[in-house]
Amino acid sequence: MKKQLLDLQEYLAQNNLDIAYISNPSDINYFTGFYSDPVERILALLVFPDKDPFLFAPQLEVEAAKDAGWDKDVFGYLDHEKPFELMAGHIKAVAGTPAKWGIEKDDLPVQKLEAIKSQFPDAQFPTNLSRYMENAKLIKTTAEINELKAAGAEADYAFEVGFNAIKEGRTEQEVVAEIEYAMMRKGVMHMSFDTIVQAGANAANPHGGPEKNPIEKDELVLFDLGTVHNGYISDSSRTVAFGKPDAKSLDIYKVDLEAQYAAMDAAKPGITAAELDKVARDIITKAGYGEYFIHRLGHGMGTSEHEFPSIMEGNDMVLKPGMCFSIEPGIYIPNVAGVRIEDCVYITEDGCEPFTHTSKELKYID
Ligand code: MN
Repeated sequence: MKKQLLDLQEYLAQNNLDIAYISNPSDINYFTGFYSDPVERILALLVFPDKDPFLFAPQLEVEAAKDAGWDKDVFGYLDHEKPFELMAGHIKAVAGTPAKWGIEKDDLPVQKLEAIKSQFPDAQFPTNLSRYMENAKLIKTTAEINELKAAGAEADYAFEVGFNAIKEGRTEQEVVAEIEYAMMRKGVMHMSFDTIVQAGANAANPHGGPEKNPIEKDELVLFDLGTVHNGYISDSSRTVAFGKPDAKSLDIYKVDLEAQYAAMDAAKPGITAAELDKVARDIITKAGYGEYFIHRLGHGMGTSEHEFPSIMEGNDMVLKPGMCFSIEPGIYIPNVAGVRIEDCVYITEDGCEPFTHTSKELKYID
């Protein structure tokens, strides 16, 4: 059985839990190698301290789970059947009536929890396994890092396509379409999030999106994109110059790049997440743009872009080899321009290595 599952079984035994109900799709992938977002249907991995785990899935997913390499039981249900009644039958056959449940409280909707309770009226839910998962996924194995490298190489290709797609009169949305079409032609069927292309002042709104307006000459153009490779993601940002942007735009690029390089240099075992955030933030603040760097330096990533460690003020977690996270300082001046330069990295014995290798020297596109 996979080490990840053995570790969870040991955790259950040590914490007197009778069953783990894993429902977060990226966590199911982490344990089984099978990724699927079941939307309103039920997909769950049931793990016990001393019995074999099994998957419970919509019938239409059963073969896909096996094809993905899951070699334990997978029980399916049809749409017209009562999933929680069926699942309870399988649980009872394996483990009787579990009393103490570990569930992912960050992910399990109240309605599904109530359905579990209706099958197991005496069940208790003392443990939030979402916290366990954050720590379990914190240090990546060599195999995981190889998947992340492959996802990073796909992101590098996406940048190449995107930079070539910038043309006068083309809109941000059209450039996004070019990128995603080219990725699909290459067999990359999932981006890790909606691809972002934002030009000029639109890039100053980091939670905005690509718009229908044509990209103007003499502006910066910000790209933020990533792909999913065997369930592992990439996430990277580059900002390029279309024509000749004004001096202010070029200055914020220069400062942001300096901050990104400095943080890449400082990322190594022993530094804390908060200290690393400060390395980049100090450079941006000294240059007078501190108020325009309005998010943390980075986020952990792996099977999702929302993992530990969070690289921000107040997080005293010490960085260790195998931790993976983004380094993405950004400067956003409302109504003027926005810059973000981002690599996801993994911590090595004495530094860090990026998963993406697209040049960060300012690229001029005519
Ligand atoms: Mn990111």
